[in-house]
Amino acid sequence: MPVPRSDLTRSAVLAALGTSGPLSRTDIARAVGVSPATVTQVVKDLIARGMVAEVQHRPSRGGRPAVLLGLVGEAGRALGAKVAADHVAVVDVGLDGAVRQSWEWPFDAVAADAPDRLADLLRPLTEPDRESAPILGFGICVPGAVDDQDTGVVDAPTLGWRNLALGARLRAALPVPVLVENDVNALAVAERLYGRGRAHRNFLVVTIGRGVGAGLVVDGTIHRGTSGGAGEFGHFPVRPDGPRCSCGNTGCLEAAVGQQALLTDAVAAGLVGTDAKPADLQHLADTGSTGAQRVFADAGTIFGRAVAGLINVMDPETVIVLGEGTRGWQHWRPGFEPSLRSHLMPTRRAVPVAVEAWDDSSWALGAAALVLATPSGATGATGDQGDLVRARLDGVLARELS
Ligand SMILES: [Zn+2]
Repeated sequence: MPVPRSDLTRSAVLAALGTSGPLSRTDIARAVGVSPATVTQVVKDLIARGMVAEVQHRPSRGGRPAVLLGLVGEAGRALGAKVAADHVAVVDVGLDGAVRQSWEWPFDAVAADAPDRLADLLRPLTEPDRESAPILGFGICVPGAVDDQDTGVVDAPTLGWRNLALGARLRAALPVPVLVENDVNALAVAERLYGRGRAHRNFLVVTIGRGVGAGLVVDGTIHRGTSGGAGEFGHFPVRPDGPRCSCGNTGCLEAAVGQQALLTDAVAAGLVGTDAKPADLQHLADTGSTGAQRVFADAGTIFGRAVAGLINVMDPETVIVLGEGTRGWQHWRPGFEPSLRSHLMPTRRAVPVAVEAWDDSSWALGAAALVLATPSGATGATGDQGDLVRARLDGVLARELS
C-alpha cells in the first residue's frame, strides 16, 4: 500500500526539526520543499498528536517575532551506550536531545564473554515501560572501526575486539533496533544534530584523552571511508623515532599525546610515580607545577602541528575539540595555538577552533544521537536498522492518533 503523501510530509517535518532544532513555519516550508499552507496544516496535526510544540519566539526587527517549533522530548526516546575497556556509560535521551537519565557500570571488555555481559547490562533498560515514551532504538559507540552502523562489525584493539559481530549479537539479545558506530563519529553526529555542527556542512571533530581521534563531516555526512575506518587520526605518524603505539607501529600521534604518553613523559621527568593517574598530572599542572604544564604544552605543540595538517587537507569551516583530555586544555593551549596557526596554509590561518565543555555522558549522548539522527538520514550507513527506527517513529505517530 503506498504511503499517503501527508504522512511523508509529516515525517519530513519531524526529520527537519530533529536535524536542525527549533524552526519557524517558514524555515520548515523551505527545508521540506512544500507550501507554507501545507506546513501550517501538518504542524497543526503534529501539535495535536503531542509530537511538536511551540518552543520559543525568535526576536525580529520590527513586525511580529517568529514562533519556533520544536520536537516534544517526551514523545519518544533513544538509548545510547559508550563501551570503554573498563566501563559502559549509558544515557536515556528524549526526542529533543535532553538527557533524562544516565548510568555507568564497570565492564571488562577483554573478558571472553564480554558481548553477552554487555547485552545483559543493556537489556533491562529496553524493557517496555508503561509510563515512559517508546524507545526508537539503541545507539552503541566503541573506540574502534565499525564497518557500518547496521551490521556493526567492530575492530577495536583497545577493547581486544577483532572482527566482532557486535551488531548481530546485540540485535539478537535486545528487543529494539541497534546502531553501532565509532565513538568519535557518533560525537560528530551529535554535533551535527545539537552542537556547533548545525551551522556547518563541512567540519572536523578531533578528540584527545585516552586515545586521539577524528570525525570528518563532509557535505553534511560523516565520511566513513572504505571500511568505516576513516578518521583514525590517532595513528597519524608524527615521529620517525617515536614510541610504539597500540596499533603495533611506531611514532603515531596517539603514542605521543594520548593520556598514557603524557603520564610516561611525566614519570621520565620525575614529576609523578609510575602509579599516577591522568587526574594526578592535571592536578599538578593546575596547582602551578611548571614541569607538568610543560608536559601538556609539549603535547599541545605536537597536536597543533598534526591538526594543522588535517585542516590543510580537509579544508573544514570549523574545528571542534572534544574528549576527556579537554579538561586540561588550558595547559595544552600555550603549545597548541602557535603550533597550529604557524602550520596552517596562509588562507586557512583564521579557521575557528572551539573547545567544548566535556561531560562524562558526552560519549553516550553521541551514541543516542545516532538513533535520533536516523529519521533525517543525516548519518548515512544506517541500513535495515535505520528503517526499523523510522518504522518505530511512524508507530509513535499512529499511536498518538488513536
Ligand atoms: Zn598507531
